[in-house]
Amino acid sequence: MIELPEAVIISRHMSQELRGKRVQSGLRGNSPHKFAFYSRSPEEYEAILKDKIVGESVAHGSAILTSLEPDHVLVLGGGGERIVLHQSDETLPKKHHLLLHFQDGTYLTVTVQGWGNALLMHKSEATDHPHVGEKRVSPLSEAFTYEYFQQLFEKLDEEDTRSVKFFIISKPGIWGVGNGYLQDILFRAKIHPKRKVIDITEDERRALFGSIKETLKQAVDLGGRESERDLFNRPGNYKGILSSKTVGQPCSECGTPFEKIHYLGGACYFCPSCQT
Ligand SMILES: [Zn+2]
Repeated sequence: MIELPEAVIISRHMSQELRGKRVQSGLRGNSPHKFAFYSRSPEEYEAILKDKIVGESVAHGSAILTSLEPDHVLVLGGGGERIVLHQSDETLPKKHHLLLHFQDGTYLTVTVQGWGNALLMHKSEATDHPHVGEKRVSPLSEAFTYEYFQQLFEKLDEEDTRSVKFFIISKPGIWGVGNGYLQDILFRAKIHPKRKVIDITEDERRALFGSIKETLKQAVDLGGRESERDLFNRPGNYKGILSSKTVGQPCSECGTPFEKIHYLGGACYFCPSCQT
């Protein structure tokens, strides 16, 4: 799944490699997929994509917004999209859920694994869209200060029974962070995923803030998680401390085997003695 670090890396590559390319033809995929989300009919995709010029790509939380000049935007990311540039048709995947054939003979394909987005919007639609139009504070930006983070806690109701996992990946949510990076963020902050968010102390808030920054920055520096791919179909080098690969292995801090639980619609991995 693409989360903020992957969106940053892929959008950087897309800006470097695709800007200025003209779309000769575009196709809303060659294989129906129940959970590939589109915003128009296949015919409209073909008609709109033709002759568009690729502009800048930017990370928008876990989404990637690519300007298609003069007046459209392509919205990818936030799910299990594999977004790959091909120098010729020799490396095209058999099945794809979006294909752009550029005039210079190169291609971009999007292949959805699980579920994913390939939305094509007019710029005016994008502005009004609840997720695409909304600009939030990126945890990788300078605006994401401890004061900003702290006020997210201050807005909580005293009666709030929700967990820190919900707080980080759902509401209010840290922009672009999902269940993938959540695991290492909580491990580094030594907080259990089920911990009630209103019970988190000042010291723990500081630890959590530092851990969010450190984990995401490291992930960007390392090209994203090893389970994900960049625009050139290369895996990232960020190896998760906690993942399905490390469950049962001894904790690097205390030696207790890592455990797994299913919680809030996804697996959670944690050290039962370090994380409280
Ligand atoms: Zn431990």
